Amino acid sequence: MRFISTRGLAQPLSFSDAVATGLAPDGGLFLPEKLPDLSAQWPPMAGLGYAQLCHEFMRHFATDIPEETLRRLVGKAYQGFDHAETAPLVALDARTYVLELFHGPTLAFKDFAMQLLGNLYEHQCAQRGESINVLGATSGDTGAAAIHALLGKPGTAIFILYPDGRVSPLQERQMTCTGADNVFALAIDGSFDDAQAALKTIFGDTAFRLKNRLSAVNSINLARVLAQCVYYLYAWLRLPQEARANAEFVVPTGNFGNVLAGWLLQRMGVPIPAFKVATNQNDILYRLFTTGEYRVADVQPSLAPSMDIQVASNFERFLYYQLGGDAARVRAVMATCAKDGVYRFDKFEHSTFSASRCSDAEIPGIIAHVRRRYGYLVDPHTACAFKDLSPEKVSVVLATASPAKFPETIREAIGAEPKHPRLEALRKRPIHKHKLPASVEAITRFVEAHAV
Ligand SMILES: *Cc1c(COP(=O)(O)O)cnc(C)c1O
Repeated sequence: MRFISTRGLAQPLSFSDAVATGLAPDGGLFLPEKLPDLSAQWPPMAGLGYAQLCHEFMRHFATDIPEETLRRLVGKAYQGFDHAETAPLVALDARTYVLELFHGPTLAFKDFAMQLLGNLYEHQCAQRGESINVLGATSGDTGAAAIHALLGKPGTAIFILYPDGRVSPLQERQMTCTGADNVFALAIDGSFDDAQAALKTIFGDTAFRLKNRLSAVNSINLARVLAQCVYYLYAWLRLPQEARANAEFVVPTGNFGNVLAGWLLQRMGVPIPAFKVATNQNDILYRLFTTGEYRVADVQPSLAPSMDIQVASNFERFLYYQLGGDAARVRAVMATCAKDGVYRFDKFEHSTFSASRCSDAEIPGIIAHVRRRYGYLVDPHTACAFKDLSPEKVSVVLATASPAKFPETIREAIGAEPKHPRLEALRKRPIHKHKLPASVEAITRFVEAHAV
């Protein structure tokens, strides 16, 4: 299978090359040239464990990796999860299910894709006899997930920039207490935007990028989206037969990567009837799905910080299909969005998607309500998804983070703080961080000195 760019001006690539490349050279995002038809294949997969299911799914795409190698890489990716079912589907009542996606090393759903991506990178390094240096900026979850995907992996080093003093203390510990000598947590004297601006300049310097074999971690990598399809399939197979026809997957949404994966699975022939895009107060996607207008606004920091986005980067993949695979039109729409910050769709697929929006003021109340009603504790991101659950449908809510990652908000909601052994263990470990000014020179000097 080959992978094409949404903007149509880049050479189609193999799976491994598309994964290594990340963003397509024409500025677009990679998609499978043709989606496989799984409509006859998914029903017999019901008995498979998570890693087996992932292998059965990924082998349709990773056709340039030998079967046994892929099986091994996938198996390793989910070993570090601390629940036997990897992604357990919990029934709160006959109409309400929770798909728990927080049993990975950093207790958030990004581990599902990042752990696999880390193993794919390691395999590529070994295959090509080349090292790889991953460089990224984070305001929280992504950096921690990326670090835990690469820590201790031979032939790799990872550098994560974050704004010093502006990520939560637990998130900082997840990045700085690993003890791994290929992990560099760079605490920048500046904001997340400063870190990101520096990163952009560094990646723009092609000579530096090639010399140091730099690779980016971001939510647009093809492997991340595909790896995320698997837990939708896993949940679908576990949902009682009679619930399926009326099911709606409710997804806490920021960059649109998570819910896009579910929607792609539907296009591959798994008959999931509906998805709900649940945003926090940064509601660009809520507005899009309720009015047809995509209008960029300023980010308002919220209690669900991993959904604080301004531009939903994965949206371009959805757009590609909405525009009938017409790459020239994708280019035109993306140019309009970049220039005017707004685009109006004349027709939009409303049968599959609905949307909800949750303000910061509502989050603690929802956490308390879910706790009272179901005896179940949700984190602030998952709480956004519990806003306005449909009374007619069977809701499958994706729980994207463990409540233990957000002790302050949980305390405000229920008067007590949840604990998690993985996070408690971190409190006892020493912090290793490197303080740097937010200057391109300081960062490039550091990376050159420590690159593998
Ligand atoms: C990243 C993240 C989200 C948003 O996911 P997208 O793929 O960006 O839509 C939601 N919840 C948590 C906890 C996250 O870390």
